[in-house]
Amino acid sequence: MGSVKKRVVIVGGGTGGLVLANRLPKDEFEVMVVDKQPYNYFLPWLLYIAFKGSRKPIKREITTLIKPWVNFIQSGARLINLNDRYVELENGKRLGYDYLVVATGATVDYSKIPGLSKVIDLYGNYHSNEENAWKVWRTINSIKEGTLAFILAYERYRCPPSPLEGVLLADEYLREMGVRDKVKVVYATSYPRPYPAEPMNEVVEPILKERGIEVTTFFTLDSIDADKGVAYSVEGEELKFNAAIVIPPHIGVNIKYNPDNVLDPDGFVLADKDTNRIKGFDDAFVIGDASALPVAKTGVTAHLQATVVAKILTGGYARNTGRTHCPFDMGYGLGTFVISDGTHGTVKYPPNRVNHLFKMAFASSYWSMLKYPELWDPLMEAYFNATAPEKLKNIYG
Ligand SMILES: Cc1cc2nc3c(=O)[nH]c(=O)nc-3n(C[C@H](O)[C@H](O)[C@H](O)COP(=O)(O)OP(=O)(O)OC[C@H]3O[C@@H](n4cnc5c(N)ncnc54)[C@H](O)[C@@H]3O)c2cc1C
Repeated sequence: MGSVKKRVVIVGGGTGGLVLANRLPKDEFEVMVVDKQPYNYFLPWLLYIAFKGSRKPIKREITTLIKPWVNFIQSGARLINLNDRYVELENGKRLGYDYLVVATGATVDYSKIPGLSKVIDLYGNYHSNEENAWKVWRTINSIKEGTLAFILAYERYRCPPSPLEGVLLADEYLREMGVRDKVKVVYATSYPRPYPAEPMNEVVEPILKERGIEVTTFFTLDSIDADKGVAYSVEGEELKFNAAIVIPPHIGVNIKYNPDNVLDPDGFVLADKDTNRIKGFDDAFVIGDASALPVAKTGVTAHLQATVVAKILTGGYARNTGRTHCPFDMGYGLGTFVISDGTHGTVKYPPNRVNHLFKMAFASSYWSMLKYPELWDPLMEAYFNATAPEKLKNIYG
């Protein structure tokens, strides 16, 4: 007599949710993925829509990205009841579970900064959706003189290098267009240095200087006035601009939780850093951008956490290492990675062309990695081993 399968409900069919769903063995689990939209979006490519005008498709139907035995329901979840073990969908239907995995990512919230909605409406952003990324592309094509400001609004956002990737790609494009000598590019950040982690800043800051990019540090965005073209900081400074690309505040998605003390003030879900278990619950996990853990909000993190949770669910021992591996496009075909883990600080890893190639290779393999994570494991393990922070630190410091 076969044993009864465990019911796993995964809320969110993004990077983390699909890697996990596709890793769970069909003979042990009945897996249900719930997503409010029919598509999985490759969000990193918003950068290349915004700064290269790329027309490469960035979405694929979730039903084509799951193994045949994984079930999919297209619906928003409105309530997660951890006490009574069910997820309530928008139509009121309840899905009971043996194990729950929250993989709902993050979302942007313009209401935190007065004036921000109008600025986004005018100039776009590359942290939300395709429409806004295309607006950025129009912005950098229309500015011919004056100041193009990039402003980091909040310290929680997807992909730590992405604000500076935008700055460097905009600089490259404006040079190509022959207008860079008339357009000042400014980067404003609340951090004390352009890149928050000091070793990576030692790589980045000289490149920004060499490319003539101005940096304003200790600039915590308080409000922004699109009509006057001025951004105001909490510290009392004013930054004048002709166009502004703001990296908007990120928060957790709008789902009610019972109990609600598993959420932090921004709506991210509190979790154990080693196992991703939701605070106080053995049968519920949160992976990827949805968690309140102080780790980089990247697809790589979501993928690694999904792998740890899959091992735990199948009865194995696994713990997060805190490994980060964020691709950093520095323009002109150069790339690096922001690499660290729980026991080693960030590596001072200078850019090269091969790293840029790796970033593009990951982009091309993204959906295959989601559907067949087990096929990519040997390559990924070898690659992560070769680029382990302790090894690179011996070379680069
Ligand atoms: C410009 C940019 C560049 C980036 N570059 C990189 C990079 O180079 N490398 C990298 O690793 N990462 C990068 N990232 C970050 C990466 O895209 C995210 O960290 C990753 O997608 C997080 O995966 P996730 O599974 O946590 O969430 P997501 O992939 O965002 O998936 C969340 C899913 O949950 C669903 N959902 C939300 N609310 C509900 C609800 N109520 N009910 C049901 N479903 C819901 C959503 O529809 C979505 O499908 C970048 C991001 C941006 C914006």
